Amino acid sequence: MPQKPIVYDAPTPEPRATTVEAIQAEILERLIYSIGKDPIVARPHDWLAATILTVRDRVMDRWMESSRETWRSSQKRVYYLSLEFLIGRLMRDAMSNVGLIEPVRDALKNLNVDLGDLVNLEPDAALGNGGLGRLAACFLESMSSVKIPAYGYGIRYVHGLFRQEMSEGWQVELPEEWLAHGNPWEFERRESAYEIGFGGSVEPVIDPDGIERQEWRPNDHVMAVAFDTPIVGWRGARVNTLRLWSAQPIDPILLDKFNSGDHIGALEESSRAEAITRVLYPADSTAAGQELRLRQEFFFSSASLQDIVRRHLQQYDELDSLPDKVAIQLNDTHPAISICEMMRILLDVHGLEWAHAWKLSRGVFGYTNHTLLPEALESWPVALLERLLPRHMQIIYAINAEVLTEARQRAQFTDGQIANVSLIDENGGRRVRMGQLAFVGSHSTNGVSALHTELMKKTVFSDLHRLYPERINNKTNGITPRRWLMQCNPGLTKLITDRIGPEFLDNIDLLQGLNAHADDQNFQKQFAAVKRDNKVRLAKVIKDRLGINVSPDAMFDVQIKRIHEYKRQLLNIIQTVAAYDEIRAHPERDWVPRVKIFAGKAAPGYWNAKLTIKLINDVAKTINNDPSVRGLLKVVFLPNYNVSLAEVIVPAADLSEQISTAGMEASGTGNMKFMANGAVTIGTMDGANVEMHKEVGDDNIVIFGLRTEEVNEKRSTSEVPRSSIDASPRLMEALESISSGVFSPDDPNRYRDLIGGLYDHDWFMVARDFDAYVAAQSKVDKLWSDPRRWSSMAIKNTARVGYFSSDRTIRQYAEDIWGVSVPET
Ligand SMILES: *Cc1c(COP(=O)(O)O)cnc(C)c1O
Repeated sequence: MPQKPIVYDAPTPEPRATTVEAIQAEILERLIYSIGKDPIVARPHDWLAATILTVRDRVMDRWMESSRETWRSSQKRVYYLSLEFLIGRLMRDAMSNVGLIEPVRDALKNLNVDLGDLVNLEPDAALGNGGLGRLAACFLESMSSVKIPAYGYGIRYVHGLFRQEMSEGWQVELPEEWLAHGNPWEFERRESAYEIGFGGSVEPVIDPDGIERQEWRPNDHVMAVAFDTPIVGWRGARVNTLRLWSAQPIDPILLDKFNSGDHIGALEESSRAEAITRVLYPADSTAAGQELRLRQEFFFSSASLQDIVRRHLQQYDELDSLPDKVAIQLNDTHPAISICEMMRILLDVHGLEWAHAWKLSRGVFGYTNHTLLPEALESWPVALLERLLPRHMQIIYAINAEVLTEARQRAQFTDGQIANVSLIDENGGRRVRMGQLAFVGSHSTNGVSALHTELMKKTVFSDLHRLYPERINNKTNGITPRRWLMQCNPGLTKLITDRIGPEFLDNIDLLQGLNAHADDQNFQKQFAAVKRDNKVRLAKVIKDRLGINVSPDAMFDVQIKRIHEYKRQLLNIIQTVAAYDEIRAHPERDWVPRVKIFAGKAAPGYWNAKLTIKLINDVAKTINNDPSVRGLLKVVFLPNYNVSLAEVIVPAADLSEQISTAGMEASGTGNMKFMANGAVTIGTMDGANVEMHKEVGDDNIVIFGLRTEEVNEKRSTSEVPRSSIDASPRLMEALESISSGVFSPDDPNRYRDLIGGLYDHDWFMVARDFDAYVAAQSKVDKLWSDPRRWSSMAIKNTARVGYFSSDRTIRQYAEDIWGVSVPET
């Protein structure tokens, strides 16, 4: 029975007080009554849990109020479906957004507990791989901050992204245990549980009106149980819900099996079910491919769709208003099966006709494409889908028939074009293309930077774009300035506030006011002093974790991101080797001291990425221990890159390396974090770098390298990379030293194939961009040698970062895609 909330205006308890005394008393109360610990014996994790519960209480009132308000005003709800949410820590974010950092700090101090220690004790929620998952997390925070009624839907993985350790310079993956001490943020909602089916058959049934319908009869079921986390916006503007699904067995134990002595078999169903949400796939920019992954995708899509339709019916009691009241955004194709699940629910459960259901469904969905890399475009074997989701496969065929008919009749497509837009890839084993499904099943398909969106129109979706020319649009990514400026860089935030006033905290575009101070010598000195403090803090982390001494007066040159060939950590490390050679060849020159800082994880099965990590560590060992370098160059690889480590590194960066092969990085968001924190970018004309270049102007960014068209040209002609190597003695020397084992005397052939690839095909243009990169680095040295010039550039980067706020991105999604009106700030 749909159950209506009857009491809108029930009296609620008084909001919790936010004085130091009240908070202090409540932390103690929580420790005793919720955690069950005597303060005398409480462990740091107990204090952390008690503090989180105290902070959480101060978010609850706004949470209830937000949901109640959405009911009352019948506002449209936005649902953000993402297989990844790379959240990081939540406590400082929540405290900062509701203005509790100072009172909580003081309350804890009175209890002899240091807030900073507690903050560092909170585990990162690392339910994502990299940029895509981090974007989802920034969007959640921004949707709350700009007051959009929204839900994030995803999976509550027991193990998030693996923990990375180094063993003799090689990456080792260890399980991440973020739930080991419990998770005080989440609320388990056992009443919000749905049955999810797999397999079985589809049977035609005649409904009471005499109409034939299809009924899916799965032969395998699991339960999806909801866990809710409140996501509070800036100044508590609104609190939205992140709802993560956990898989549980229908029958926790098969008693008859147990009683007959089969103790393992009795728990089999249980472990099979729980396997679905046990681990995050550690693949970034590659399709995962295995059946368990497809199960994850359907599991969370089905649970979310059932929940969305249930909520809609509960409030509106009809389905025609779905597109007016519901917007569902698909973060990449991972949730694309939701389109079929929506159709199944409308057709088979609610008896709608095809055309009607299709119109409603398409009106609801929007799809965000994140990559053009062929290896990342998801597709599933038809045979697998037929076995696992037979009804959804039927629906895919029906959608395909409709699209192909339209393509032939309305657009007069040729056979080649038909093959391009078809949901079924007929080459080499029939497969369902999830990108095509997501595109045709949505009313909007967006790219994540201007360049990426244009390339989408020309490549993967060229014929679909011809068929539906209105559908593709751009939404350049953004980052939340709360986490990535105010929280991670309090020193800079204070300096800016002192200079231009606090209004920018509520309207990030006002950072533009800093432009007027960019050449003020006094301000430059203060800006540089803040940077130096952050560098001292990072230098200490480097010393503590790696035992390496680095000088905060050297340039901190930083490349932190997933390790991927297209991101070209290899280009950076080869240039480092070339610089090492130069320093030794010309010790008399006036070298700019640099610390090359790397961090990032490699997908466990991605050999070249893992080898690149080893190479960085091998080069680091040689250079850091070579007295002839006299400390002018240091190389550091910080293990276990995650959101919290990024929050320490980014504020300390002088130079931001954004050097992907042009045309291959969809947007990048790391680039924006550095910009906010006053780092200068060295980068290619790729992804959002193009728009950063436009915002800061040519004088405040260092751009180099082949453009996208040139890359394509080089790839399509027979010109061999060999010639660019022959033409560059510096490059040749560096490549030869690496491939002959100068940095790997224990295994001289270790890098032979890796470097050989550059001579052979050089798909990522490492050799062909090398000289341009070296020249750009020399330009960086020259700019650095003029501290006033450098400071002016750094300040202007911060001043002009406003466009890259995820608040802007979210407003554009709301207006252009979701049809949701956003209150003015
Ligand atoms: C921002 C971020 C990313 C994305 O970085 P890119 O440089 O855009 O690839 C990946 N991982 C973490 C932990 C991040 O914070």
